[in-house]
Amino acid sequence: MVRPVKPRFVRGPPWIDYFKPRGIPLSALDDVVLNVEELEAIRLKDLEGLEQEECANKMKISRGTFQRILSSAKKKIADALVNGKAIRVEGGNYKMPARGRGMGFGSGAGGPPAVCVCPACGNQQPKVAGLPCSQMKCNKCGSFMMRGG
Ligand SMILES: [Zn+2]
Repeated sequence: MVRPVKPRFVRGPPWIDYFKPRGIPLSALDDVVLNVEELEAIRLKDLEGLEQEECANKMKISRGTFQRILSSAKKKIADALVNGKAIRVEGGNYKMPARGRGMGFGSGAGGPPAVCVCPACGNQQPKVAGLPCSQMKCNKCGSFMMRGG
């Protein structure tokens, strides 16, 4: 028996991003779109069992707004369960840490990604951690570089 792939269920976006009834091809499914705030509202209130006020505080929104987001989320989830729709999670107005892009973040004091600039020809190269630009040679012309920014 082939087991269906389980949705990823991790804390913090992207959680699951698509949830669908088994055995129905995507092309035949309607879906509801749940935004990330709505998912977070459900998680805090119904999964973690927090009071509405605590949830609102955690999301840094007013209780009224929290209530509205939660009702909207429940309505969408009910629609999906009762009518056999898929749930897509996307969008919404939320804050999350920037995602890495596979390059990692340089060690050091933070700030924008560092580059070194060649004063002679204008060539730019990514700064190498631990190596000052002034000791790095330009790949094109061999001059010592300077810190760009
Ligand atoms: Zn150069």
